[in-house]
Amino acid sequence: MRFNRQRTHPDFDTRLGYEYPSHLRSAIQDLPSTPGVYIFHGAEGDLPLYIGKSINIRNRVLSHLRTEDEARMLRQTQRISCIQTVGEIGALLLEAQLIKQQHPLFNQKLRRTRQMCSLTLREHRPEVVYSKDVNFATQTGLFGLYASKRSAIEALRTLADEQRLCLSVLGLEKTTKQSPCFRAMLKRCAGACCGEESLHAHHARLLAALEEQRLVCWPYPGAIGLVERNANEMQVHVVHHWFYLGSASDLEQAKRLNTVAPDFDSDGYKILCKPLLSGDVEVVSL
Ligand SMILES: [Zn+2]
Repeated sequence: MRFNRQRTHPDFDTRLGYEYPSHLRSAIQDLPSTPGVYIFHGAEGDLPLYIGKSINIRNRVLSHLRTEDEARMLRQTQRISCIQTVGEIGALLLEAQLIKQQHPLFNQKLRRTRQMCSLTLREHRPEVVYSKDVNFATQTGLFGLYASKRSAIEALRTLADEQRLCLSVLGLEKTTKQSPCFRAMLKRCAGACCGEESLHAHHARLLAALEEQRLVCWPYPGAIGLVERNANEMQVHVVHHWFYLGSASDLEQAKRLNTVAPDFDSDGYKILCKPLLSGDVEVVSL
């Protein structure tokens, strides 16, 4: 089983399998056991190969060194650097920002900023909207966050299956007026297409299901500073319209970071939405 997996793994090189990366032993000596971001640098131009975050940089990097699947990256790594943060949110924001700016070779999850999609309702029909056309931080009535139009439509189809909604009424499929759609014949649509249920009931179910994914508009009049503290210091993360503008060590410096957010930052939204709405974090307006 394991042998098989290794043979098919794209990073596996039969001549050079995993070996503890002893050339990195000195590179890990000074790594702190604090929150922050760490960077594996390659030999060529010192370019970042991989950027990660942890609440304990040292432990996380040590576990990378023992991960056989990462042998290829470890062999190419020449040095490891880190940037300490005061807390976990600062590490998450910085990691996302650096990955978008530097596009490290081995980061698969967070890619550079891409066009995001969401769903909105126009005359009771869902419609895909793009973050280039609409400011997701201020526009009301948006549901869900998707990387592509295809995944937005896919999510809508899943929702239709769960709720027995009609693809024809939703505008995803064309059928002859007043005749039941294919899924209605299979009892997978509750029959809004052929009068078996009212359009009102159909729409109410659609709305209730979408409601769970409603995007939260920026709930502040302007930029805010999210404050994280440890025993010795504080860090203020400046955010406007869910866009992370940078971190400062005091409020005066933070105010100077308050510039216009260039576009919708889906990473910022995903990282900050829960802590900000829960009220568990210290927030100052800037
Ligand atoms: Zn139908």
